Amino acid sequence: MFLKTYFKNKKAIILVALISFILLESLVIALIVYTQKDNTTSFLNITTPDTKSHIDLTNAQLTNISKIFYDITINKPEVIEIIYKASHTKDKQQLSLLRDELFHKLTPTYNYMKKYHVRQLHFQLPNAVSFLRFHKPSKYGDSLIGIRDTLEYVNEYKTPINAFEEGRIFNGFRNVYPIYKALEFIGTVEISFSFDAMQEILTNIDHTSYLFMIKENIVSTKVFNEEQSNYEKSEFNGFDYDKKTLKDTMQISLANMKKINNAIADDVKISLQNAQPFSIYFKNKTLYNNNSILINFIPISNLNNQIVAYIVHYEFGNFLDILLHNIEIEFWIATLLALILSAIFTMLIIHKKKKQTDIHDLSVHDALTKIYNRHGVNEILNQKLEEHKRGKKGLSVIFFDIDFFKRVNDTYGHDMGDYVLKNIAKVVNSEIRASDIFARWGGEEFILFLPDTNLYSSVEVAQKIRISIQKHAFSQIEQITCSFGVTELRKDDTKTSFLKRADVLLYKAKESGRNCVISDKQP
Ligand code: GH3
Ligand code: MG
Ligand code: MG
Repeated sequence: MFLKTYFKNKKAIILVALISFILLESLVIALIVYTQKDNTTSFLNITTPDTKSHIDLTNAQLTNISKIFYDITINKPEVIEIIYKASHTKDKQQLSLLRDELFHKLTPTYNYMKKYHVRQLHFQLPNAVSFLRFHKPSKYGDSLIGIRDTLEYVNEYKTPINAFEEGRIFNGFRNVYPIYKALEFIGTVEISFSFDAMQEILTNIDHTSYLFMIKENIVSTKVFNEEQSNYEKSEFNGFDYDKKTLKDTMQISLANMKKINNAIADDVKISLQNAQPFSIYFKNKTLYNNNSILINFIPISNLNNQIVAYIVHYEFGNFLDILLHNIEIEFWIATLLALILSAIFTMLIIHKKKKQTDIHDLSVHDALTKIYNRHGVNEILNQKLEEHKRGKKGLSVIFFDIDFFKRVNDTYGHDMGDYVLKNIAKVVNSEIRASDIFARWGGEEFILFLPDTNLYSSVEVAQKIRISIQKHAFSQIEQITCSFGVTELRKDDTKTSFLKRADVLLYKAKESGRNCVISDKQP
């Protein structure tokens, strides 16, 4: 009985299950998205300073190298003497001789310095007048005022400085030292490193990859025209690569770095304008097996604290992958829980519905015979009469009553009476169709509604039932018979008039000697 109701409500139950699952799963997805964002951001917040400190340490290391060179090879009496003389003469020939002397004295040192990635060794006289460029000895005598802030700084404050600085030929990490003879300031020396020096040291730390890019407008306004070809447009709007730093590395090829840059260029556009270090990650099915690649952007500022370049650092984000994998596992566990919870919820609803159905079933069925009771049949009858009124279906009724039932009770006892009632219900049930509505009207009176059945057929059914009961072998009792009244619903019938007619016909059957079928219009 319940299953019947269940299947009627199947759609509703599937809907409840689906809606509860969708609601729970939405919650799961919202939580997971939040967790992933939060965890990824936290992770990226850790990795950015890591790269920045690598770069700062490397910069400090380069400065130390320059300082050692300065102390051991430049800050020497014989070198100081040459600079001293040069700073005290205007005679070009003497200056030329002094330049040659210095060049020959320090060329072996310069060659040695180059092994340590020193790119420029450049002496200046006071007021930033170029005296000797070891990387370009033929060019000298020009004033670098207004061109090189680091030189102006050391001329003014007479203390060493190290800073990144863009130049006309070269950009790099410059270290400028004042040169003194006794207490007299006689000039400056610059020992500079280009980015590839830093790149090599950085790469040696953990074999990760670094690119260097400088602002396009710096290249176009500061760099000599003939040197512009040293730069190449990057994938990031407004930035050029220093071509020398474009190299394949052990972990990530240059082609792949460019592929990654292409993919992330739009995402980092705004961050690049913020001038703050930041990191993002990149994942691609075809690239490195869908492993995350972290890309850390570290801004480089010049002496005036303007961001002029970025170091872009690429490394595999193994830890992030573990994190994301764990989040994925959490997602599936949470989804499973959502599934279980929605199943439990649905079961609870089904259980509640079943309880309600059970209670309703009890209220519409007769406890003894298990067929409908008067209340139950009334409920159905109202609906059937409605349908009939709408002209859809015909309906007949068979009203019957056990003959001399009082005698059964009196002779064999009440229990035997109950036994007879139960068995009559069984016999009738075996004779009727599933669509027929059979009920105990009260006491030993039964009522049977036959939808879509005319009077003629109903009388036949009544006869069939009458004979079956008459022939039925009850234990102890020889024979039980019933009397039947049969009528068909008429257009102008009310429930009362319909049932009244059946009752009168049954009465007539009793009058006519019982164990017979009387209908209002004998077919
Ligand atoms: P008739 O042929 O005129 O119908 O005679 P009858 O004896 O069947 O009719 P009557 O109305 O005089 O008696 C009906 C009896 O049915 C009275 C009552 O004790 C008995 N009865 C009603 N309900 C039950 C029941 O649930 N169990 C039992 N055992 N008897 C019942
Ligand atoms: Mg009776
Ligand atoms: Mg009776």
